[in-house]
Amino acid sequence: MDYKLTFKEFNKALKRGKLLGLKCRDCGKFTCPPKMACQECGSTNLDIAELNGSGKVVTFTVSYVPSEGREAEAPYTIVMVELDEGPWLMGNLTDIDPNKVTMDVIDRSVKLGLRSKVLPGDTYSIGGKEAEGGFARPTFVFA
Ligand SMILES: [Zn+2]
Repeated sequence: MDYKLTFKEFNKALKRGKLLGLKCRDCGKFTCPPKMACQECGSTNLDIAELNGSGKVVTFTVSYVPSEGREAEAPYTIVMVELDEGPWLMGNLTDIDPNKVTMDVIDRSVKLGLRSKVLPGDTYSIGGKEAEGGFARPTFVFA
């Protein structure tokens, strides 16, 4: 089976500020980040779709112990965002001081930052191949 939308394509679009996902032709639900099958019904009958990048913060964490290669970024705030289209997407919340983040950010409206920051590859979680050329991580700002 092939990936309709690869992480490479997803990353490339993200670097240009575009959030791509998959729309299921069978159930109509969106999948993001890309997977091989619809995260709702398992169908592989998928179309590439652009998502608007807006949503609400579901939960967050502040990382003081970064993964290898990201030492210079710490501390940083990681948020789980429920996108308007439904899927949950993890990203960094960039317009708040990580030392001042409180529970108040939960449920706040956020949108994709204009350009997602290109970060050095985290070779452990994404594999050396994808790390080439940089891994784009979604960045969010308050809407
Ligand atoms: Zn589906």
